[in-house]
Amino acid sequence: MNRRQLLLATPVVAAAPWRVSAQAPRKLQVVASFSILADIVREVAGDAADVSSLVGANADAHVYEPRPSDLQRLARADLVVVNGLGFEGWIERLVRTSGYRGPVVVASDGITPRRLGRALDPHAWQSLVHAQRYVDNVRAALERAAPAQAAQVRARAAAYTARLVELDAECRAAFDTVPRERRRIISSHDAFGYLGDAYGLTLLAPRGWSTDADPSAAEFAALIRQVRQQQALALFVENISDRRLVERIAQETGARVGGTLYSDALSLPGTEADSYLRLVRHNVQTISGALRAALTAAASATPLR
Ligand SMILES: [Zn+2]
Repeated sequence: MNRRQLLLATPVVAAAPWRVSAQAPRKLQVVASFSILADIVREVAGDAADVSSLVGANADAHVYEPRPSDLQRLARADLVVVNGLGFEGWIERLVRTSGYRGPVVVASDGITPRRLGRALDPHAWQSLVHAQRYVDNVRAALERAAPAQAAQVRARAAAYTARLVELDAECRAAFDTVPRERRRIISSHDAFGYLGDAYGLTLLAPRGWSTDADPSAAEFAALIRQVRQQQALALFVENISDRRLVERIAQETGARVGGTLYSDALSLPGTEADSYLRLVRHNVQTISGALRAALTAAASATPLR
């Protein structure tokens, strides 16, 4: 290396570190509980915050076991955002243990949850209308936490909400091509109730709103009977769950596996469901496409009389 190369290779910041730190004040540190929520927060925050997720891509937040590094991350956080509705059963204890004393924003605040007795269905992000409430709750929290960036955050929230509204119309159009009485699907856990309510889908699942327990033999047999009676048209595996349960239902009922749905987590960066918008679009295209294919197959299999 000659003298000129050596000079070029010398890091400039080393000469004036005080100036660098003065120009770049510490960014707002936001921790979201799971990957889908982290993506929504990132969209709203833009460069107003560094956003990280406790539960990562393709991971199951229902049965998450926090790591020591999560405690450190929370201890350094300025803002924590969770889904609520009982989704993250482990978060309260984790936050308490970490010593974090800042606000914990519940993104689903203000929606009307689906209920079964006293239990709440936590998967409200599967509704693009509820997601707009998530965006608004996140926007309000970010504006409070970073008032200097409030205008930017407000503009980003408005632009992102417009994209949610647009995608909702696209989803509605995708299902319009499937007769309502044929919009029947099965997924491995009951994560798509809000999507079903939005677009008139009937859903069945061997597991309930959580993934922490497998069905008993009797429950499984009852489900198989129900699938046969209801002539459910398409089955789906999920990115966060073991696919064997759904594959067994397919074997026993002759229903077809129509693809992979993303229920409670994004896919890895660079893959098909690596953002909330891409996740919803993928799920809706996969479901509506499989239902259309099953309808076509059923029509061509009908014997001519
Ligand atoms: Zn779930």
